[in-house]
Amino acid sequence: MSNTKDLSEAEIAAKKERKAAKKAAKAAADATPIEESKPSEQDEKAAKKAAKKEKKRKAEEGVDGVQDNNSKNENQPKKSKKTPPASTQDAENFFKENNMTVSDSSIKPLLKFDELDVEKALVKPLTNFEKPTPIQSITWPCLLQGKDTIGIAETGSGKTLAFAIPGLSRHVLSDTSNHTPSILVIAPTRELAVQTYDSIHKLDVTPSICLYGGVSKEEQKRAIKKSKPRVVVGTPGRLLDLVNDGGIDFSNIKYLVLDEADRMLDQGFEKDITAIIGNTPSSRQTAMFSATWPQSVRALAATFMRDPVRVTVGSEELTANKRVDQVIETIDNPRMKEQRLNAHLKSIRKEMGNARVLVFALYKKEAGRIESTLRRGGHAVGSIHGDLSQQQRMKALSDFKDGSVPLLVATDVAARGLDIPNVEVVINVTFPLTIEDYVHRIGRTGRGGAYGKSITFFTDEDKSHAGELMKVLREGGYEIPEGLKKYPAVIKKKDHGSYGAHFKEIDPDAKPKKITFD
Ligand code: AMP
Repeated sequence: MSNTKDLSEAEIAAKKERKAAKKAAKAAADATPIEESKPSEQDEKAAKKAAKKEKKRKAEEGVDGVQDNNSKNENQPKKSKKTPPASTQDAENFFKENNMTVSDSSIKPLLKFDELDVEKALVKPLTNFEKPTPIQSITWPCLLQGKDTIGIAETGSGKTLAFAIPGLSRHVLSDTSNHTPSILVIAPTRELAVQTYDSIHKLDVTPSICLYGGVSKEEQKRAIKKSKPRVVVGTPGRLLDLVNDGGIDFSNIKYLVLDEADRMLDQGFEKDITAIIGNTPSSRQTAMFSATWPQSVRALAATFMRDPVRVTVGSEELTANKRVDQVIETIDNPRMKEQRLNAHLKSIRKEMGNARVLVFALYKKEAGRIESTLRRGGHAVGSIHGDLSQQQRMKALSDFKDGSVPLLVATDVAARGLDIPNVEVVINVTFPLTIEDYVHRIGRTGRGGAYGKSITFFTDEDKSHAGELMKVLREGGYEIPEGLKKYPAVIKKKDHGSYGAHFKEIDPDAKPKKITFD
């Protein structure tokens, strides 16, 4: 068994190249016409111009971000008419209980729905829920005061209503005579965009539109003209395309939301996003949500946000959901995967009846192949991947959600950020390209306080992930399975600008350490 440390430089370089090629192949395989479109030279220029404009705006506002009182400040807080927020002690207890940190200690969490001072129509969907989720409790007061806000929270934390309610109240319902877009939400995938759009559309308070690639741009332009949306939700490529050719005007945007910022940057959308932001006024309010807080996301926030409040729910690092039972099955012959998948499905159906099972593949072709095999094997199955039309993907998702087809095959790009409730089991037929994707995949189960199970097939081809996987398992308090111990327990760190990639050896037999803080 070769140890990565013993490899020659040439071998390491070749390995790097293979990994880059694998990554590029994956990007191409999962590409959708819009989501993978790269920015043109013109967009890059626009991006640079926008960054400059932001710098100037910040300079004009002074280092502490305090706005000029004489200038028109559209982000003035609304006067509160309702119950005052929690006391300092209540707030501290709440933050502790929910493992939260907030960068501005003057912000008190909103612990009950009746403290929310917004129009009645906006609180209607909340009647089904018991209390605000942690991210809602803290982002509502921040955003309602007009503050730029960064929320670091996992998907499924109730963040759509966390940003939608204050945005609609402050920037749309307060000015019903306006018929141009006031709210812009940028999301990494069309599924997430559609999901966000659906939640906002359901509130039924203002015209809204969802814009993504892979469908006719001309039709979208006609729809924009006809519906005069106040809220625009979309993916970066098509939004930029539409704004560049005059199909939509963002010059009156008052509220910008960057959803799943880390994912958008991972997908190479930085220049598109920067160019889109350059078309919005600098007086806007900005909210940004991200599951993690890497340097790239910090840089984005530093460029486009004004003295933001940062709220973290849980960890800023990606950690696996503790309510998911992680099973790792090492497989010597990859050809056995489909047989093993069938065996697992059989026992799940026997033990758990019609439980929802989400099967992950790496490439869209692979997803298609697994779907066909399962169908031939008599399973009712749907799939979501880049080779399918938007309609086909949405149909598969809704059949899975309503339980009529409780088996869904998906690729990472298509599944990220989707709100799929009550998935009992996730099966990773092929290990993902990154450990972050592994954590996101298994996080599709065990949501909303429920317990879930993940089954992951691990083959020789995945050995470069063995070290990272062992770390995730140890953090969750799991024994490292014997089959996994034969692989090098090496964690490849992210490349460093000066030192390149470097490695860390870990001990697969080490007991998980529990650290208690006073
Ligand atoms: P999101 O993070 O916006 O995708 O939301 C995930 C799920 O949480 C959605 O199904 C929401 O309807 C639901 N949700 C939103 N707010 C609450 C709340 N306060 N309590 C319970 N569930 C909620």
